[in-house]
Amino acid sequence: MSVRPTPAPGAAAATRTVAGVLAEAAEARATVVLSGHVNPDADALGSTLALAEGLRRRGARVLATFPGELTLPASLGWLPGAEGLVPSSALPSAPEVFVSLDAASPGRLGEVAPLLDAAVTSVVVDHHASNPGFGTLQLIDPGAPATVTLVADLLDDLGVTLDQQLATCLYAGLAADTGSFRFGSTRPQTHELAARLLATGIDHAEISRRLFDTAPFGWLGLLSVVTGRAVLEPGTGAGLVWTWSSTAEAAEHGLPGEQLEALVDVVRSAEEADVACVLKGQDDGSWSVSLRSRGGTDLARIAIELGGGGHTLAAGYTSTLDREGTIAALREQLTRR
Ligand code: 5GP
Ligand code: MN
Repeated sequence: MSVRPTPAPGAAAATRTVAGVLAEAAEARATVVLSGHVNPDADALGSTLALAEGLRRRGARVLATFPGELTLPASLGWLPGAEGLVPSSALPSAPEVFVSLDAASPGRLGEVAPLLDAAVTSVVVDHHASNPGFGTLQLIDPGAPATVTLVADLLDDLGVTLDQQLATCLYAGLAADTGSFRFGSTRPQTHELAARLLATGIDHAEISRRLFDTAPFGWLGLLSVVTGRAVLEPGTGAGLVWTWSSTAEAAEHGLPGEQLEALVDVVRSAEEADVACVLKGQDDGSWSVSLRSRGGTDLARIAIELGGGGHTLAAGYTSTLDREGTIAALREQLTRR
């Protein structure tokens, strides 16, 4: 199989080229490996599972994975096709095609990242503003509200008909990354895609309930502790509200570490602060930092400065400093002119 790099960027041209490579691979019954980013969210996983299933239907030999241990949070483990994910240890060392989905940088692919170079062709499908562009072929659109919208375009180009299985995966990513169509990234086409997905007959209310509105009772106790210790710093940049928790503290409330992820969605509602930050202490002692802006701060830039990445209004990074040091470094970035 021979593949030429994209001659010219531009989302439309890139869509055709990436779709062309994938169609050619499917036609040739080639092996295609797909991976989302580490600790996959609904967009990473929905993108991976939907494109994997579409390519499988077109004839490709497909292996879908994500870096790290192959366990998913309860909110995502039910997505159709998740049971067919393979551990990264079971991947071929040099597949014909490797597709990276929703990963802002090679580092976010963890131990799967070497496939970017080892594969004959590596395709990067993503929507992060901080994506530097890696792999042989890119379909990167920072204006896309979710990676699943790019996957929906690819499935259309591949001639794959959307059914409930595919639509469930795509809707999960779309609803999650648009904040259920509340964020500014939501466009007319976003609702048009949502309409197409709903028209397949998916149970969107059930999908949303599972993704956003279901947690063990212990989460309420954790939430009260974490919001109770939140600190408001109106003078830090355009205002900062921050708090912290840890996997150990989640465990005290009978919760897995994944339950720390939704805390920032509550903390961000403090109107006095443009930026909300939740420090999530990990088992290894590092802090996984979640940042959200109400619109006045470029968090992708700040997260890149601090070793991570993301979108303008939602970004993150890992810090190995202690808690005060981590917040001090963030404060410095937020007050820098
Ligand atoms: P969250 O706060 O939900 O974990 O992440 C918010 C956004 O920042 C997501 O788009 C996610 O991909 C990105 N992000 C979070 N942590 C990191 C990181 O360590 N590195 C990079 N490059 N992006 C991150
Ligand atoms: Mn995404």
